[in-house]
Amino acid sequence: MELKEYWSDHYHSRDFRLIRIGFVAVRFRWLVTLLIIGIAGWVAVDWWVLDAAHFKLLWKVRLITGAMLTPLLPLSYLCKLNRRWMVLSLFALLSILLFFNAVSLWSFRDVATIPAGYVAFPYFLLALLAVLPLPIRSGLRVVVFILAAVLGTDYWLDSHTLDNGQLIDRVWLLLCFSLAMLWVQSGQLRMLLDLYRESTRDPLTRLMNRRLFMQQLNAVRQENKAGQSFTLILFDLDKFKRINDQHGHLMGDEVLVSVSTTLVDIFGSDALIARYGGEEFVVLLPNTALEQGARQAETLRLAVESQPIENPLDETEVLVTLSGGVVSGDKNSDVTQLIQWADEALYKAKSQGRNCVIAHSPHILAEL
Ligand code: GH3
Ligand code: MG
Ligand code: MG
Repeated sequence: MELKEYWSDHYHSRDFRLIRIGFVAVRFRWLVTLLIIGIAGWVAVDWWVLDAAHFKLLWKVRLITGAMLTPLLPLSYLCKLNRRWMVLSLFALLSILLFFNAVSLWSFRDVATIPAGYVAFPYFLLALLAVLPLPIRSGLRVVVFILAAVLGTDYWLDSHTLDNGQLIDRVWLLLCFSLAMLWVQSGQLRMLLDLYRESTRDPLTRLMNRRLFMQQLNAVRQENKAGQSFTLILFDLDKFKRINDQHGHLMGDEVLVSVSTTLVDIFGSDALIARYGGEEFVVLLPNTALEQGARQAETLRLAVESQPIENPLDETEVLVTLSGGVVSGDKNSDVTQLIQWADEALYKAKSQGRNCVIAHSPHILAEL
């Protein structure tokens, strides 16, 4: 995991961003549920430890806070779909809780010693927020928000001054809790990203696996604007079984890795490239017409054909070739049908002697 991936979700893939937001939304819902139960249920403790005057005000504040938190539960279902809803819900949660903190501290303005549970509330809040796998930039925003609210409350309660002996102590402790929160949050983010990568990447070539590719293909199709087309190419290595039989499986693996590198080099970062099966690869070129996609497939074929691959065991070199089937689709295409057509074109390429690219269109076929 790279450092920048800890910093901001701007550096995460679109797919992982959605998965993480879904995960945050579920935890957020649990957090809100526990807070509603905890804040309302604490009335029993207050009844036990507080005098009548304080209790009379605080049980109402607690019930109002619980009622204000409740709409966040249905809102958390919307968060699953949209990052903006997630940010909004999180800051709504913080605002309600920090409002509760301010009002409860204000209610104790006439006593010398505030009950420990109320003094510790902001620290408790930071500890709870550690369950959310947030990138550091988002975590820092949460910290700044809480710190500003706590200092603002102090300023308001201490007759508009921050010249209070305990202030440094409080800020220092809040920063320590914030650091711990950021540390746990990024640890969770890392774990989530590692698990995501393991379940969506091919372990040998590190390309996307077929499952993720199909999701992405559907997403690209849906996002396609009217009149725009995308190209799908299915590649299959020629007589690959023979390479395994003659040079061993280790060399076979080496060939697969080398071809994946060439695929990435030729198609660049805009393309979605996946290992579709054993020695089959699939490439999706967004916003690319059939003719242009077929030309790029041909460039790849020529690059693979001309690039000897060294056997890691005996340093001998092997030449491999591949065949390709190309098809193009648009917003209204059926993705299963597209794969079927690409497969048919690939089959044609194999039956025409291999080491060639065939497009699923007679017009382009003539041009290659
Ligand atoms: P064709 O030109 O018709 O595609 O012939 P082929 O030999 O490439 O096709 P076939 O389907 O007969 O063989 C595919 C081989 O790919 C069989 C299998 O052992 C091999 N293979 C699949 N996955 C891997 C892998 O991860 N590593 C290695 N070394 N071989 C693999
Ligand atoms: Mg095959
Ligand atoms: Mg093959």
